[in-house]
Amino acid sequence: MRAVVYNGPRDVAVQDVPDARIEKPTDVLVRITSTNICGSDLHMYEGRTDFPQGGVFGHENLGQVVEVGEGVDRVKVGDWVAIPFNIGCGFCKNCERGLSAFCLTTADRSQFPNMAGAAYGFADMGPYRGGQADLLRVPYGDYNCLKLPPDAEERQNDYVMLADIFPTGWHCTELAGMRPGESVVVYGAGPVGLMAVYSAMIKGARMVMVVDRHPDRLRLAESIGALPIDDSKGSAVDQVMELTNGIGADRGCECVGYQAHDPEGDEHPNMVMNDLVKSVKFTGGIGVVGLYVPQDPAPQDPLYKQGEIVFDHGLFWFKGQSIGTGQCNVKAYNRQLRDLISAGRAQPSFIVSHELPLEEAPNAYQHFDARDDGWTKVVLKTAA
Ligand SMILES: [Zn+2]
Ligand SMILES: [Zn+2]
Repeated sequence: MRAVVYNGPRDVAVQDVPDARIEKPTDVLVRITSTNICGSDLHMYEGRTDFPQGGVFGHENLGQVVEVGEGVDRVKVGDWVAIPFNIGCGFCKNCERGLSAFCLTTADRSQFPNMAGAAYGFADMGPYRGGQADLLRVPYGDYNCLKLPPDAEERQNDYVMLADIFPTGWHCTELAGMRPGESVVVYGAGPVGLMAVYSAMIKGARMVMVVDRHPDRLRLAESIGALPIDDSKGSAVDQVMELTNGIGADRGCECVGYQAHDPEGDEHPNMVMNDLVKSVKFTGGIGVVGLYVPQDPAPQDPLYKQGEIVFDHGLFWFKGQSIGTGQCNVKAYNRQLRDLISAGRAQPSFIVSHELPLEEAPNAYQHFDARDDGWTKVVLKTAA
């Protein structure tokens, strides 16, 4: 099968690799038809993680079931499915509590003895190959495949967002404790930030502000009703304070991650976290879904080599804020969000800027990594 293979920093290629296949009776084999490039792929693409050379990228996957293992009951050949980026088992202590991003069964313990959580084609998240390929093996397929309604094939660009970014954006507003009628500031108007904005809108936010500096992204955020804040034109915190009568936003969302950088391009892994503490009100909540890692092999800030940041803990504590972090438990949201899409109440495909054949992946990675104007979200298609 063809797959997008990582050959080293900023070097990916579409290569032939051995076909994914059923390995355990609980596996499902999916012919991938739509698979997204994600901002978190870029950390790996740039060589800023320990993702192995020869590994296959792709954790935002949708396709049609072509084979099921003997132990699979619910999922049938021919079903269209969206596949959460997390690989859960469904029966461990965390999965049972809805924390499928922290599954204790599927995690790779080779580096961290108490590791929790696994994902397709993701640094430190296990040996599982990604789905930027013709075929994907889905472990515990009954648990990990979300069946899609009859319009799945035509509306793949909407439903494929259920694999990661729509639930992740939603999760960010949940982590922040957002309630209807509140104001929200979202840092980062990349795909996840835009989905956080979109989720806050659906959940009845009074006002959503979004901080970024790419005009194309800010325009998209504005098109769904957010107030754009360009941090290359002045302090983001000052602008949030001005829009909230000096009080700060009720809730803040971190959708940037550890490669946060200033308008000049210098990375400051603590920048967004500290800006959030300043721009969220006393007793407000902060949700953090931007990616942070325990080790950065090529840090710009030496402290971040071990994943550490200088955090404004004094002000954070003094303001009585709360914070929620971590990867999204996609299974906790994907059914409801699927139903919003199916009922016509949500159309997350509005962020898709490019729909390209799988062969175009190297070129697409290059443009998306360079944040080239207009490259908001890429969906790769495997069909010829
Ligand atoms: Zn993703
Ligand atoms: Zn589990």
